[in-house]
Amino acid sequence: MTQPVGVAGEASRPDAATVPPPLEGRTALVTGGGKGIGRATAIALAEMGASVVVAYRSDSGAAEETAHQVGGSAVQCDVTDGEAVQAMVKGIGKVDVLVNNAGAVRDNLLLRMKEADWDYILRTDLTSAFHTTKAVMSGMLRARWGRIVNMTSVVGITGNPGQANYAAAKAGLIGFTKSIAKEIGSRSITCNAVAPGYVRTELTEASLTDEIVAELVKRTPLQREGSAEDVAAAVAFLCSPAAGFITGHVLVVDGGLSI
Ligand code: NDP
Repeated sequence: MTQPVGVAGEASRPDAATVPPPLEGRTALVTGGGKGIGRATAIALAEMGASVVVAYRSDSGAAEETAHQVGGSAVQCDVTDGEAVQAMVKGIGKVDVLVNNAGAVRDNLLLRMKEADWDYILRTDLTSAFHTTKAVMSGMLRARWGRIVNMTSVVGITGNPGQANYAAAKAGLIGFTKSIAKEIGSRSITCNAVAPGYVRTELTEASLTDEIVAELVKRTPLQREGSAEDVAAAVAFLCSPAAGFITGHVLVVDGGLSI
């Protein structure tokens, strides 16, 4: 009888101690990696053996601290600036894993939303991924390997009053993810998205009061708050060899809130 593909006999299984970490020799760039979900993601990827570069916009203290924690480096780069992104990627040399995590909110009901707030969120949460993905793509194509993970949101799937700009940007990121997956899949490069529910970070600090969190937990099938580590674990999975045949997927991490 033939052995099923991918199932090795117990005797031939390599000793766990001799198996290199799955991202050893790979360089990962995490935008907005200094804090919140980005920091947890930087830690998770470093635990998988990647050399991690943490990109930040303004908070150098947080980014340096995270970089120190993961044994990587921090680099200042506003990801809405295409030329700055090109220069950052050139400075890093090669990027094997790209996590487009940087994001911001400027909430208001549409009738009160200023065009500047619409533009700012579209540039920060969507155009940024255009700049970074374009900048790393030729290197990944040459290497015939790459992992791209875009941080979208359940709000990009469900919509949310007061977040038309953010929801539009995050929904756009889903279309972007699927298009890129189709463009570069033939070179063993995957492009997926992670869609978190609500996680307490600086981003949600103003909008997530204790009362709102209690209400959200009540409506969440898994009956607890999500953490940055919950989201980072999903990103890490999508970057792992186990996810090598998954692309164009949107992995929702919300404890079931949106079902
Ligand atoms: P944080 O506010 O903790 O982190 C946001 C990060 O993005 C910061 O490190 C910030 O850098 C960086 N950033 C913002 N704008 C820019 C820019 N122009 N250039 C470079 N970096 C920038 O937020 P979260 O950890 O909560 O959010 C991370 C991602 O997860 C975002 O994309 C967000 O939309 C998404 N998300 C979050 C959810 C939540 O509930 N928290 C839910 C769903 C999605 P600096 O501080 O240096 O300015």
